[in-house]
Amino acid sequence: MNNTPLRRKRTVVLTFDDACRSHIEIVAPILKQYGFGATFFICRFDDEWRAKHEKHLLTAPEIRRLADSGFEIGNHTWNHPSLQQRSASECNTEIVRLNQFLQDAGVPPPVSFAYPGGPYAANAAPLLAASFRGARTTEQRPWHPKADDPMRIPAIPIQGEDKQRFYQAVEQTRHDNTVVLVFHGVPDPVHEWVNTPPHLFAEYMQYLHQNGFRAASMREILFEHGLNHPESDQ
Ligand SMILES: [Zn+2]
Repeated sequence: MNNTPLRRKRTVVLTFDDACRSHIEIVAPILKQYGFGATFFICRFDDEWRAKHEKHLLTAPEIRRLADSGFEIGNHTWNHPSLQQRSASECNTEIVRLNQFLQDAGVPPPVSFAYPGGPYAANAAPLLAASFRGARTTEQRPWHPKADDPMRIPAIPIQGEDKQRFYQAVEQTRHDNTVVLVFHGVPDPVHEWVNTPPHLFAEYMQYLHQNGFRAASMREILFEHGLNHPESDQ
């Protein structure tokens, strides 16, 4: 259909979870250097945990700065619960509370969501479909926007020292699909099991740049496939 030159370029979607301060200190400057788009999925966790780890977490003004500089801000719930075990009203509270926080921070209403912990939650999907254009899982395969359920977008987590995982993931991109990558902190002192060392992240982004990849936010891909416009829903 809409075969613009952009669509012919191999595309990866870059997503960053859990509102780590390294997202603004280390990740955003590297992305800007290459003109890469990305989605930052924000959650807040409970008050006690957040107070304890405050210096490693993004503040509301920092989240606003990421949005103002063109990055997408997505909803990752307030307290990062496993949605599969929650009632509809609990899921709703988690989503609405985070959206309110983003609104108070001056961030546009999110169109993208990421399931906490990664697994698809069928019980939450109808609620999410009413609030968002797309919802990201961590089902590890490429994303075919024309074929996949937008409330069940697959993505591949990248973490640790295993470089092959990154290179194998991006090699799966084709002209009609994209690969969504999930990063946490770069580095991540509070979630060490999902840490990405900064020197590896720099290497990955340089590889994408040198090999002619386009790096986009989830929102950009949803827009391109007409999955984003509330006006066109009827
Ligand atoms: Zn998370």
